[in-house]
Amino acid sequence: MAKVMLVTGGSRGIGAAACRLAARRGYDVGINYAGRGDAADAVASAVRQAGRRAVTVQADVADTASIAGMFDRVEAELGPIDAFVNNAGIVHEAKPLADLDEATVRRVLEVDLVGAILCAREAVRRMSRARGGKGGVIVNTSSIATRRAGEVKLVAYGIAKGGLDVLTEQLGREVAAEGVRVCGVKPGLIDTEIHATMGVGDRLGQLGAGVPIGRAGTAEEVAEAVLWLCSDHASYVTATSFDIGGGR
Ligand code: NAP
Repeated sequence: MAKVMLVTGGSRGIGAAACRLAARRGYDVGINYAGRGDAADAVASAVRQAGRRAVTVQADVADTASIAGMFDRVEAELGPIDAFVNNAGIVHEAKPLADLDEATVRRVLEVDLVGAILCAREAVRRMSRARGGKGGVIVNTSSIATRRAGEVKLVAYGIAKGGLDVLTEQLGREVAAEGVRVCGVKPGLIDTEIHATMGVGDRLGQLGAGVPIGRAGTAEEVAEAVLWLCSDHASYVTATSFDIGGGR
């Protein structure tokens, strides 16, 4: 029987690449999105073309009341979730913290941290062998911004991702004996649409050449790591995150 993966923010960028690769690796895929149903539908078509089942689910992960319903819908249509990719995320405009308004700080923390914590909680409730589940893997999409956010004026975002790294390490330890692995990926500069929301023009062009490997990464390069972490090849890996940053 096919394994089942749910990806938050699966409609575009890194999440979409993870959904497409997951289908090629034999997963049925739940594709969460916030507003871009058209993009989620395109990813679902690609999953089906690869011969797997797909379901798209609209849910704003910051609207925490909708999280359980998102898991319910995917499990009802595809079966119990084996792998949960906690990937939905936003950035704020690149600005000194002193110029950032409170609503923006709160929104970034609500989506990138509070939403991610409560999504991970929901995944554990369903996966934990101590709670009647069959085990599973959670992969959190963090960022190298935990170390570099100050340089690029993304401090609030970096704080949210720092919290996500603690979630990976400490939840990973908490549930390791319950058959649930919790891992994280920390992408560097990856070529997705997220950069257009930071208000700094051609960010990939400006920063890409300064990456030691000489270019921005692709969403597919991050997806490869996500799929490895979800696989049995990573069976002894938990409570840890690693960079996919081209040396940055
Ligand atoms: P992206 O291309 O902008 O895609 C973002 C995805 O998240 C979309 O599918 C979007 O859904 C979804 N999303 C946004 N807010 C959401 C919400 N409140 N609830 C549910 N879904 C939501 O971004 P990306 O670059 O792929 O980023 C994916 C993750 O990687 C994020 O956590 C980001 O912080 C992290 N990351 C990215 C980079 C990079 O350089 N790209 C580097 C480090 C870390 P819609 O399509 O419906 O809007």
